[in-house]
Amino acid sequence: MLRRAGSLVAKVLSKLKEEAKPGVSTGELDSIALDMTRQAGATALFKGFPCPYMDKPFPGAICASVNEELVHGIPSKKRILKDGDILSIDFGIKLNGYCGDSAVTFGIGQIAPDRQKLLDVTQQLLDIAIQQMAPGVKWSVIAGEMEKTAKEAGFSIVKDYVGHGIGTEMHEDPKVPNFVSRDLLRDDIVLKEGIVLAVEPMVNMGKAGVRTLSDGWTVVTKDKKCSAHIEHTIAVVNGGSEVLTARE
Ligand code: MG
Ligand code: MG
Repeated sequence: MLRRAGSLVAKVLSKLKEEAKPGVSTGELDSIALDMTRQAGATALFKGFPCPYMDKPFPGAICASVNEELVHGIPSKKRILKDGDILSIDFGIKLNGYCGDSAVTFGIGQIAPDRQKLLDVTQQLLDIAIQQMAPGVKWSVIAGEMEKTAKEAGFSIVKDYVGHGIGTEMHEDPKVPNFVSRDLLRDDIVLKEGIVLAVEPMVNMGKAGVRTLSDGWTVVTKDKKCSAHIEHTIAVVNGGSEVLTARE
């Protein structure tokens, strides 16, 4: 069931990636995602998600975060994508009671080399997790390597948001950080057969600090430099890992 949910998320993100071009709005992408979700008989999990700061449920099916926006950007017909932007689309659904959650960040048209490097390094962090996830592995080992790789590239890992377990609910235990904290070392996640995690590295080109805009949702970097966010729903199965939201 999680494979089916994951493959729908992948199909929608592939379509949105194809449609996202200079001149297209993030609101148009949101409409496509919502249509595809409903046609598949699924529910868009972000739409109506309660805001932690005010009475303003999330209005979109996707989070669309451009450039210095890290996560939770509100899709809008007024937000027109431009050549050179980097766009992060986060998308989650529930299908037959099971959830899928995935995010991509990619360039619109031609992007600057430092932005491309940010995308490459963020993908590299997720690849570290995909390669190393297996029964018996401690998450702190993977998180430590992710953190080190980002640092060596001259980037910062965001510490305010983390990945999560996923199943019949989008956000389940445990919390899955992309860095090593005292909390993680004290209460490490030892992976076992059958566990399913949404792993979602968030990397800033500049400093790690982020803040939420007055719209109650959009999270931006404090130094206004670009950030990237890439996520897959990943199962620990058959002695290794399987990416349930892998795109074709
Ligand atoms: Mg997500
Ligand atoms: Mg997630």
